[in-house]
Amino acid sequence: MDSLEIKAPAKINWGLEIVGKREDGYHLLRSLMQTVDLCDVLRLTLAEKDECRCSPPLPDDGPNLALRAWQALKAERGLTQSLLIEIEKKIPVAAGLGGGSADAAAVLRGADRLLGLGLPLDRLCDIGMKVGADVPFCLHGGLALVEGAGERVTPLAAECEYDLILVDPAIPVSTAKVYAAFDKAPEDAPGNIDALTRAVLSGDKSEIRRHSVNMLEEPAFRLYRRLREVQEACADTSACAHLSGSGGVVWALCPNRQLAQMTARAMSIRLHSGACHVVRTTDRLPE
Ligand code: ATP
Repeated sequence: MDSLEIKAPAKINWGLEIVGKREDGYHLLRSLMQTVDLCDVLRLTLAEKDECRCSPPLPDDGPNLALRAWQALKAERGLTQSLLIEIEKKIPVAAGLGGGSADAAAVLRGADRLLGLGLPLDRLCDIGMKVGADVPFCLHGGLALVEGAGERVTPLAAECEYDLILVDPAIPVSTAKVYAAFDKAPEDAPGNIDALTRAVLSGDKSEIRRHSVNMLEEPAFRLYRRLREVQEACADTSACAHLSGSGGVVWALCPNRQLAQMTARAMSIRLHSGACHVVRTTDRLPE
């Protein structure tokens, strides 16, 4: 085998609390995250030289995280092979859906399989953490409590599936700026991630609404006013709606797939620009 295809799914944050800051500046989190079925598709092919092609191309703001993950794995294991990484990008970029981390995690899993390395998940997570804080979660997938700077992932057995819409107002959000805005005026209204976790596990949507809090939401709304309007519009039409991560995508919980499709159509008309995606939560990574 000299080539393989692998899917890289997006994530949402059901809830996100900031519980501290490390000396090196990393924020310490408690976040309940879950994989959804909106995926980038990657093809990894053994090649003459390392190269990453992304379609459509990313805004030109640095090396692709997928390539950085491959180079981190290569350095760590002293590998001599080279890889062509082709990414069909479906996950909105800089949107709080962890798309770059998902691609990085998919490269680590895919390259491990392609080259028959047989590295344990813990090792892949250590390498992934050097590339991005969400990569360890993306290597696990499903539903998990994520703590520390992202390196502590506790997988949870998700028995309920949820239909959601992801409303993307197409405002590229700078995660660094949102954290800086949080630091200037720290939100001191933590939610209850443990109660939220129980609600998500049991399928109790009114309890999800009660306990879902994203402490990055207010700082993001202060920086990007349009995001507040989008969140409020979503909250009007759904059981619960919040920014995912640092935004700008807002997820909104819907009663079922059909109503999710109807809500997505209505929201697309209200949005004027951007897009709505109908997704379902999943309990594992795609095959
Ligand atoms: P984070 O909160 O980790 O910053 P995000 O989920 O909000 O991430 P991403 O789509 O991962 O957003 O993009 C974050 C940044 O990473 C963008 O500036 C983007 O250009 C860059 N990036 C590098 N590689 C990728 C990739 N493969 N997919 C998406 N973005 C990438």
